[in-house]
Amino acid sequence: MTADIPVLPDAAKNLAPVKDPVIGRVVSNNSCMKGKSASFVRHTEIDVSGTPLEGNCLVGQSFGVLAPGKDPKGKTHKVRLYSIACPSYGEDGEGKIISTTPKRFIDEFNAEEKSPGPTENGLFLGVCSNYLCKLEPGDKVKLTGPSGKRFLLPVDRDKHDYVFIATGTGIAPFRGMAMELLSHPDHGPTTSQIHLLMGAPYTSDLLYDDLFTGLASKHDNFHYHTAISRETRPDGSRGCYIHQLVDEQIAQFGPILENPRTVLYICGLAGMQIGLYQSMAHHKLNNGYFKIGEKLSGTDPIDWEPSQIRRGVKATGRCMVEVY
Ligand code: NAP
Repeated sequence: MTADIPVLPDAAKNLAPVKDPVIGRVVSNNSCMKGKSASFVRHTEIDVSGTPLEGNCLVGQSFGVLAPGKDPKGKTHKVRLYSIACPSYGEDGEGKIISTTPKRFIDEFNAEEKSPGPTENGLFLGVCSNYLCKLEPGDKVKLTGPSGKRFLLPVDRDKHDYVFIATGTGIAPFRGMAMELLSHPDHGPTTSQIHLLMGAPYTSDLLYDDLFTGLASKHDNFHYHTAISRETRPDGSRGCYIHQLVDEQIAQFGPILENPRTVLYICGLAGMQIGLYQSMAHHKLNNGYFKIGEKLSGTDPIDWEPSQIRRGVKATGRCMVEVY
């Protein structure tokens, strides 16, 4: 069987440029974490009705947020991009309300950094993530976008099966994609197979866990897998990263990844693709997902260095990667 390269929709881009942002209004802003944690992640819904963003944001794209105020140099803050966490038809079914998944960036203040930014109690607080996380219903927010044209669902959703792999807030687009594939108001649920793999430090850090557990119990074709890195597993083994889960359960994931219908989406921490590429290449599952450069071909993937992988392994037609 030949592999099916997904045909992607034409995505509108930059309808609201940084020079001419639109004003959205916050509808809700609540925690989307499973439990109490050292992190704070929210699901933020914003009404964009009447603006060029209405009905024009596809799941997998991002929108920009312009935080108010100035940086220590007196310049306005740069735009920050946030992944859209809702289906293309929005939270409301009409594309009027879009959403995202901001995580408060909090770190210890480092006076040696060039522009350490605002601090409180010796802590550095990321400008835009903390701004977004403290917004309340009714608050106005300046938005730009949409941006991105490749990390999208195929036009013919039933022609493909899906493997979504996330770490942390990289889950944002997969919330929207899973909803779009399974709860579309016009098309109903797809019969395609969907595997969602989510990596988090602790169980309490899982995001949208109720939604995914609910989808898995309702739809036989939706499979939800978690890799918890810092907790001992029930069998006494150490926690694991997402690529270790793929490796350990290769009997399950191998046939799915071998299937030419499958499209692989990877979103989250920069570097998470490294272990996945190694594991997939080790099991000879790279066909259609990524090309291995001349210098690495014929060598054992276990020996590949991250820098060699960055230079020598390139995602191809059935692999979409968004990592920061
Ligand atoms: P996090 O909660 O800190 O980490 C998630 C999990 O990934 C943890 O279990 C972590 O393990 C594990 N991990 C760390 N290094 C890894 C590696 N090399 N391979 C596999 N797993 C690894 O994540 P977060 O703070 O939410 O960060 C999410 C990242 O996604 C951010 O960098 C954000 O910018 C990015 N993001 C990107 C997009 C996009 O591209 N559109 C959208 C949303 C988010 P340990 O911590 O235990 O080591």
